[in-house]
Amino acid sequence: MFDAISAKVDQGRRIDRADAAWLWAHATDARLQDLASRVRARFHPPDRATYLVMGIVNYTNVCVARCDYCAFYRFPGAPDTYLLSEEQVAERIAGIIGLGGTMVSFNGGFHPHLRIEDYTRLFQGLRARFDDTVTYYEMTVAEFMFICKRTGISYADGARRFRDSGTRWISGGGAEVLADSFRLRHSPGKYKVEDFYAAQAAVLDAGLGSTATMVIGFDETLDERLEHLDRLRHFQDERVASGGNRLASFLCWTYKPWNTELGGGEISTGEYLRWLAICRIFLDNFTHLRTSVLTRNEDALLGLRYGADDFDLPTEDEVTQKAGATISHEFERILDSARKLGFTAVHRAPLAVTAGR
Ligand code: SF4
Repeated sequence: MFDAISAKVDQGRRIDRADAAWLWAHATDARLQDLASRVRARFHPPDRATYLVMGIVNYTNVCVARCDYCAFYRFPGAPDTYLLSEEQVAERIAGIIGLGGTMVSFNGGFHPHLRIEDYTRLFQGLRARFDDTVTYYEMTVAEFMFICKRTGISYADGARRFRDSGTRWISGGGAEVLADSFRLRHSPGKYKVEDFYAAQAAVLDAGLGSTATMVIGFDETLDERLEHLDRLRHFQDERVASGGNRLASFLCWTYKPWNTELGGGEISTGEYLRWLAICRIFLDNFTHLRTSVLTRNEDALLGLRYGADDFDLPTEDEVTQKAGATISHEFERILDSARKLGFTAVHRAPLAVTAGR
């Protein structure tokens, strides 16, 4: 079986779900590294990795979605809710820039009282303050869906309104595991998978940039993980065929269980790395596969040997920190981990919204 899969990879053919399941169950780490590195080499020099410094600003923890794996949110009316003012957000951005950050992602809860104009006003104000110093991932697709619903507009209208106000990116965050069975178990109030892709298609069709993400290590089954990859690859195929914007990168990180209703443990680094390799081999229509320093610290750099080519050096993210993530600003030490593994770590500019076209 391995020889047949290996031949597919050599010939630039796709592996299917059964192949991926076989690799997951039977392939040694060394063989997974080898296959993933061969796919990586189609896109990137083998000994080169890229990175940037980025911070995640969590502008509100008010949320009505009640995902059981989330340690961050507070239901409306709880005593420790917050909503940052533009001034407070600007202070956080200035801090991120001070640490060398060139990208700021925004990630907040599903705040029931905010409408689309509250967001466009905030981001227009921030862009005016900081010019082109930073690239903004202004919200996740999950937040975008909620904002459109609360405002009473379609995803297409919402994407156009954001674009016309100056928005350039809506990231693919909030995806976790894109399988409806998973969503029903853990986050029934957030969205349905088909709806997520409809919203993301609207974002890309409007000319905005977006990304793909995945989180593993809850109680998801292998089938649910593979469904995530299969639908995602199909979605990207459709984007390529459309000739319009496609997803610029794929990032996988791991569930942090502390202070969550779901609880449980954390998966091992070994399991994370093996899954990264499966993702790299399967997602043959993605140029960039990113490994997560935010949730795996220096161990994430081992992912460069399992098919990843890119990573962030994070400065802050309350969502994962509340659930147990630890963030270090000793960036040179982290970069040394990549160098010791034999990679040249190259600082890169944020991707263009048309990346991959
Ligand atoms: S993961 Fe996001 S949507 Fe779910 S409860 Fe937390 S903040 Fe809300």
